[in-house]
Amino acid sequence: MQPKKKRRNVPLNSAAWLKLRAQVLAEEPLCRTCMASGIVTPATDVDHIHNGTGDFTDDNRREALQPLCASCHSRKTRAEMNGEAVTVPGCDVNGIPLDPSHPWRQPT
Ligand SMILES: [Zn+2]
Repeated sequence: MQPKKKRRNVPLNSAAWLKLRAQVLAEEPLCRTCMASGIVTPATDVDHIHNGTGDFTDDNRREALQPLCASCHSRKTRAEMNGEAVTVPGCDVNGIPLDPSHPWRQPT
């Protein structure tokens, strides 16, 4: 017997989700991941921060959601589905990788 698949508390096709999604994008119109790298990108997607854990008990709380651009959201979702670490592509103006987990960004 297969384990019961966890379901979201707020289905993505519900009016409640559409309202919550609109609230997040109105409050934070820029992608959080891009902003952390100093890049200003409009957010188009609302991400469940802890989606990779499969725990949807908090998926309707504002604190559990973040605005992302489509590129960052796709990269995060793909990494979560593959059980990989989420990475940040690119380098700053000095050629230092933006990804905080990159070996060059670790303390020596
Ligand atoms: Zn982004």
